[in-house]
Amino acid sequence: MYKKFLKIFNNAYRDILDVIIPGLCINCKAEVSDSELLCAQCHESIIIRKSPRHVGSRLLFAATDYRDSAIRNLVKIMKYERVWKAGKPIAGIILKHLEIAGFKKVLLEKNKVFIVPVPIHFFKKWSRGFNQSEVLANIIGHNLKIQVTLALNRRKWTPPQNNITDDEIRALNIQKCFALSKNAKSIPPNSVIILLDDIVTSGETMKEAAKTLKPLRPLKIIFMSAVSS
Ligand SMILES: [Zn+2]
Repeated sequence: MYKKFLKIFNNAYRDILDVIIPGLCINCKAEVSDSELLCAQCHESIIIRKSPRHVGSRLLFAATDYRDSAIRNLVKIMKYERVWKAGKPIAGIILKHLEIAGFKKVLLEKNKVFIVPVPIHFFKKWSRGFNQSEVLANIIGHNLKIQVTLALNRRKWTPPQNNITDDEIRALNIQKCFALSKNAKSIPPNSVIILLDDIVTSGETMKEAAKTLKPLRPLKIIFMSAVSS
């Protein structure tokens, strides 16, 4: 009952937030139709990476560079101004990157594949109305026909990683902040797990989340994000 109420409240909240966004491009302030967030020019200016990168030994499919102001503004309004509909263009950019960077080649046909969004703390999710990574995971999962599983919980609230400049403090900040959720049981051993987050900076959050998933004995874990530094 409580969860149902929370869901209805969150959906209403999202709708209100969408109505108050004026018909201006969030990047250059040019006029756009009410349903658009970026003008066509800003959208086309986003440089999508042609190949994956590496975080330690793992592959990271990060669609774009954080210095790109158009995508940065999309990610920011989704996260900090709670515009959940920004998820659609962001997911579209990730999907484009996956296509040109040969993502499907790294999936092994025989093995099951799961997308696991990086969780945010319950209180943050409640106050924002959604977890941005979960919104992106659902669009991408639906598009690629890959199951999305909320296999991780966030145990503690941590300050945003991009506000911390020291790598060592970043690693400490995120230590032991995840735990396997009860949904994790649905991921069998030898699966391919795609960990998805909106932003990857030093990669410490991804590494910690991957460490938490290890007891599931995945065949491999691939990182995915909209932007990386
Ligand atoms: Zn624009």
